[in-house]
Order: sequence, then structure tokens, then C-alpha cells
Amino acid sequence: TVEVRVTAARKGYGHGSAARPVLKGLDLEVERGEFLVLVGPSGSGKSTLLRALAGLEHLDAGRIERPADAGTDRPAIGVVFQQPLLMPWLTVRQNIHFGGRYRFNHKRFDIAAADALLERFGLAAVADARPDQLSGGQAQRTAVARAVAVQPRMLLLDEPFSALDPATRNALQDWLRDLVAQLGLTVVLVTHDVDEALYLGDRIALLDGSGQVAAEWANTPPRER
Ligand code: ADP
Ligand code: ADP
Repeated sequence: TVEVRVTAARKGYGHGSAARPVLKGLDLEVERGEFLVLVGPSGSGKSTLLRALAGLEHLDAGRIERPADAGTDRPAIGVVFQQPLLMPWLTVRQNIHFGGRYRFNHKRFDIAAADALLERFGLAAVADARPDQLSGGQAQRTAVARAVAVQPRMLLLDEPFSALDPATRNALQDWLRDLVAQLGLTVVLVTHDVDEALYLGDRIALLDGSGQVAAEWANTPPRER
């Protein structure tokens, strides 16, 4: 089953958007439950495509069919960026609750389910800490927990681990791989780290600066370290 379908996507920046096109008729499909990794040189439009998938960027032309909120008020997509973007005045627990409190009304927001994420994400010991007291890895795990707390069908991640030291990065890659398998999420992850792409992706798509997907590879089973 196709979870997301991008058809003839066009997007540019600047006056009239035509001046500096970034996406030039890009087509892409993501299967339900698939872990797709987007790779390519800086400036090739990976982040632009990811933001468009998230609904944070309007295309100039083309269309994106996304998982719908179908009959519920569940947002179908969670997003994580390179920086954790936590609210500095809220605790870890409150940050994780934040999205859910907005998306669900108070009666329907499942606090117990959100709190269970603290345990599962190894964040119980820092539940009442503020973001400036966290390590980089803890902060980014909190950002992923916040994205997952809204019970999305799809998780979008833009260079989520590239600001972390190598040991933490490896640990979080392992952790993300397990988490995604357990939750059965569809994932699109942007990275410029080829090892990360080969370790995490079921499929790898290359944006090469042409504004389209230049090549795709199946990567099953993903490479071991
Ligand atoms: P990548 O993620 O592959 O590095 P981006 O999607 O971030 O590529 O950027 C593609 C091109 O679009 C780059 O030239 C970048 O400078 C430009 N760009 C991205 N976002 C904006 C924006 N908000 N305003 C203007 N130009 C942008
Ligand atoms: P990345 O490629 O990792 O996304 P960038 O430094 O290219 O990081 O972009 C960081 C942010 O700055 C993005 O949100 C993007 O929209 C914005 N941005 C990138 N290039 C430009 C640009 N030329 N003009 C305005 N905003 C930009």
C-alpha cells in the first residue's frame, strides 16, 4: 500500500519561484511501513521535500497525497529536525505532552500513553529536567518522543542525528531502528551520511541536484555495522 504519493512536485524560492527552482517535477512514492532515506548533496532539495511532505511548505505545482487524519483528530505525521527545538521553559515530560495537548482535546489526550514514552525512551530519570540540563542525545530523544506522542502514522526526520557525537549517533540509530520496527511507522529520513542511510533505510533515494529523484536502491536487509 502506498502511504504517500508525490506527483510532479515543483518548488522554487525567490521572486515568482521560477528564479531558483529546487524541485522540478519530482515523483516519489513511500510504501506503508517503509523506511525511506533521502540522500544527496547539500542544496539538492532534501529538506524542501521533507517540509513539503510534512505540510510545512506549499508546492508551486504538483500534488502530495498524505495519510489522512481519517475520522480522528490524530495528526498523521510527526516531524523531527536537526535541532531538537524543545520549549526551554517546559520539562521533558511537558515537552512530550505539548503536541498531544494541542492536537487532542484534554479528555482524549492519553497522558498515560505519553508518559509510557518516557520509560521507553530512557527519559524517566530526566522527566522533570529542563532542556538545558539534557545531553544532546537526551534532547533529541525527547524531540522524537514528542513527535511520536501524537500517534502519527508517519515520521519525518531531517538530519536528526548529525549534530550528535559519533557514539551517541550510533546509539540513537540503533534505538530508532528498533522503535520504528515496534511501532510499524512509515519513515522518511534525510541524511548526508551514507553509512546512516545504509544502516537505517529499506530504500534509498538520491536527489542529485536535478530537482528529481535521480536514482533509487532497495536496501533490504539493511546493512549491519
Ligand atoms: P538540502 O536539504 O538538500 O540541503 P534544501 O531543500 O535545504 O536542500 O535547499 C535547496 C535549495 O533551496 C538551496 O539552494 C537552499 O538555499 C534553498 N532554500 C531552502 N529553503 C529556502 C528558503 N526558505 N528560502 C529560500 N531558499 C531556500
Ligand atoms: P539543511 O540543509 O540542513 O536543512 P540549511 O542551513 O540549508 O540546513 O537550512 C536551514 C533553514 O534555513 C531551513 O529551514 C531553510 O528553509 C532555511 N534556508 C536555507 N537556505 C535558505 C536561503 N537561501 N534563504 C532563506 N532561508 C534558507
